[in-house]
Amino acid sequence: MDAALIRPPPSRAQRLVTVGRWLCGRSPEQACRAAEQAVALAEAQEDWPTLGQALNLLGTIEMDLGLMRAATHSFQRGQAAALRCGDLEAQLKLANNAGILYSLTGDLPQAAQQFELAQMLLGAPGLQVPPGLSGMVRVNLASIYNRLGDSERVLHLLDALDGQELQDPVLEIYAGLARAYAHLRLLERGQPSGSQRTPEGERHLAAMRRALDEARAGQDRCPVTVVQGERASLEAQWLIHSGQPQQAEELLRAALAKVQGEATQGGIQLHLALGNLLTGRDPQAARQEFYAALALMDESGLHIDRPELLEKLAGLEEESGHLPAALSLMRRLVTELRTQEKRILAPTDLRPTAAPADDSNWQERLRIAEMQARIDPLTGLYNRRALDEVLPGLQRRLSSPPHNLYALLLDIDHFKQVNDTYSHAVGDQVLRRIAGTLQKMAVQDAFAARYGGEELLLIVPDTSLPEAQRLAESLRAQIEALRWPENKPLRITVSVGLTNATPQDTLSSLLARADRALYQAKNAGRNQVVYQPAGQEVSA
Ligand code: GH3
Ligand code: MG
Ligand code: MG
Repeated sequence: MDAALIRPPPSRAQRLVTVGRWLCGRSPEQACRAAEQAVALAEAQEDWPTLGQALNLLGTIEMDLGLMRAATHSFQRGQAAALRCGDLEAQLKLANNAGILYSLTGDLPQAAQQFELAQMLLGAPGLQVPPGLSGMVRVNLASIYNRLGDSERVLHLLDALDGQELQDPVLEIYAGLARAYAHLRLLERGQPSGSQRTPEGERHLAAMRRALDEARAGQDRCPVTVVQGERASLEAQWLIHSGQPQQAEELLRAALAKVQGEATQGGIQLHLALGNLLTGRDPQAARQEFYAALALMDESGLHIDRPELLEKLAGLEEESGHLPAALSLMRRLVTELRTQEKRILAPTDLRPTAAPADDSNWQERLRIAEMQARIDPLTGLYNRRALDEVLPGLQRRLSSPPHNLYALLLDIDHFKQVNDTYSHAVGDQVLRRIAGTLQKMAVQDAFAARYGGEELLLIVPDTSLPEAQRLAESLRAQIEALRWPENKPLRITVSVGLTNATPQDTLSSLLARADRALYQAKNAGRNQVVYQPAGQEVSA
């Protein structure tokens, strides 16, 4: 008898993943609970393949529910699990989903990095790529390059797609829209608004028309509503460039009436397009459209060209003499830009570079390994190596104003006893959950790393002392309140050292001070936070 035919029955965790997938489109909340249970079980059993799949499912559901931060965390942990067991298919799906997530939250470099990673994995030896996935990855990558303004690259990527990869009508629609958008950008780049159209411009306009017709044909075969708004806003741009602004406006209003207040990408794009169209003619109406777009972005967490939007709105408010409103928008813009800049705290040289001309497999593997070498496989947090790599960016931040960066060092209390009493495996679980709690507390721009064995580090830029103290205390309290399963009467606490950065600090002086604060917390009885301000040290 063929041994391959005898398959072990699915485990409970695997069953929960199946149930969760089934529930996904029906009841996201129930699906979420099933996925969470699957994660907990797979983790307890150290079943890495199932854990990777369960976290991929959980992240997808969280993303659908608009829980963007939780989804980021799930995908990161999923990637660590999939890496641990060498599950290439899970790595591929996770990279694609993480890319989608980052593109939705507006972190385009990260999104591009994930899609590039997924694209490299497509060629991994021994991997049977699930149908439709390779086309999806490449079209997603093309959409990101559209938003990064690299239209030539978009067209290059789309031209390289073969018919096989585009069999799914949904992909055909997305590919058509991406192509239309690339031609629109090239058209606008070569032809300043109001100027006479060049032959080159004519070509782009015609190519845009063809791409939109393709997308429409796909949509007739498969009526997906999610792209309606995106297609309508591109159709409107085409009409505007063909000298039919009135028709463009009618089309946008009709499409908006259909999506009516939906906090979706399409809804946002329609308001943006209508706002742009109305800007010169009716600033008041344009303002309304832009505010509507902003509100939908806030509601959904989807960030589409948000800094540009804030800037435009501030301009409109200023023109109409609403200075306080303009000022408040500018403040939001500054925060927004700072958030983007703060991403220097993520390893910066993970930016994608063009794939090498002869991308033989070992090179791909090496690059994947390189990327993953910055993530600690046990906890999913960044490791020391990643910390070393953000050092230049961090050093820049330390030495330039505003000096509002805090470092928080956490150490598990009496952790050795946990290992000794319950086993190292239980110790690992405790460490993972604590890391998970830290990761969840880490605001979007904070940098969470595993600094040593059971010492975790959080660097929080742009915060105030009360905020940093609240964060540290809440972290401590949440960990103390964790409940541990499997009838183990565990009571896990942590000690935390907190300190502020000064212009004179280097990373090592900053961490040395955080460490001294931690030492004081331990000495004072553990399970507490000690804040050690710079320049007021008592010599140890
Ligand atoms: P204290 O409250 O003073 O911090 O006591 P402690 O027992 O936590 O401190 P100590 O530094 O003596 O012990 C740290 C322990 O952490 C020892 C080591 O076995 C354990 N540890 C470090 N890394 C890991 C890991 O990855 N997994 C597990 N299970 N244990 C780890
Ligand atoms: Mg220690
Ligand atoms: Mg300890």
